[in-house]
Amino acid sequence: MEYILKTDKLTKSYKKFKVLENLNMNIPKGSIYGLIGKNGAGKTTLMRIICGLQKPTDGTYSIYGVENNDKRIIKIRKRMGAIIETPSLCLDMTAEDNLKEQCKVIGLPNFNGLTEILRLVGLANTMHKKVGQFSLGMKQRLGIGIALVGNPDFLILDEPINGLDPEGIIEIRELILKLNKEKQITFFISSHYLDELSKIATCYGFINNGRIIKEITSQELEKNFNKKIEIKVSNIKECIKYLEELKMQYKIVSNEVIDIYEKINVSDIVIALSKRGCIVNDFQEKGESLENYYLNLIGGADND
Ligand code: ATP
Repeated sequence: MEYILKTDKLTKSYKKFKVLENLNMNIPKGSIYGLIGKNGAGKTTLMRIICGLQKPTDGTYSIYGVENNDKRIIKIRKRMGAIIETPSLCLDMTAEDNLKEQCKVIGLPNFNGLTEILRLVGLANTMHKKVGQFSLGMKQRLGIGIALVGNPDFLILDEPINGLDPEGIIEIRELILKLNKEKQITFFISSHYLDELSKIATCYGFINNGRIIKEITSQELEKNFNKKIEIKVSNIKECIKYLEELKMQYKIVSNEVIDIYEKINVSDIVIALSKRGCIVNDFQEKGESLENYYLNLIGGADND
């Protein structure tokens, strides 16, 4: 597996207080890596260090295989874009002019590709409007647009959906997925919105007290989730008979509700049962959430 970012015993201390302690993490190329941890766990500090805004006290990290102590890291960082905390935007300038400013800041020789960036972040029609008139969601998308200047293939986003309304959240989700798929951009995202993160992340790092206590892919995590389908039926005896015939794993919850622990096609079951005179009155897919997994993990770690 190829990794965009690796850290090795990364440590950051303020006097005796260790914000990060021997932190080891690995971000696979092409992934959307979700960083999860409570307030003060060290997420922003970690991201600031990776961006070169702070220096580690101890330990190292490498980006595209280049260690932070290597001079080449300055060049390598040009392949990265980031929004740490809130994007820095000039409100009295247009979206296009904000992007042009960024071109100057990072020393690009021309303004080529800015229209494509504005299209990608859905601001092509509003590029001449002053950013002060933008909604929070538009500002956040412009922030991502600014991070895209220079054509990076690794984006770091600290809490990208904080304060956004549902529509804004969906826009950012779709933008991240689009950039990941179409531009093969690897993402490193911190978020407290676990439900939202679980819709896009392909792997997770759980941080607690300055350490990564678990790294897991979304596929591995799904295997951990005890998925089940809860069905409410009119004739429980007939339903049990049917599930027995199919050798399915199930649990009787009440005299009309059964939990089925198998991957099933619900419409097939509904049709099959109705032929046997048993009506399915309701069904719900249930399973452990990312939030529960996180709480169990953190609970366990805090009790160590
Ligand atoms: P949040 O989710 O609230 O943004 P976080 O996980 O991003 O939290 P950090 O902002 O990285 O956490 O802070 C981690 C810890 O480091 C906090 O306890 C914070 O008070 C402390 N800290 C951060 N910067 C400094 C500093 N310059 N001096 C002393 N302590 C600091």
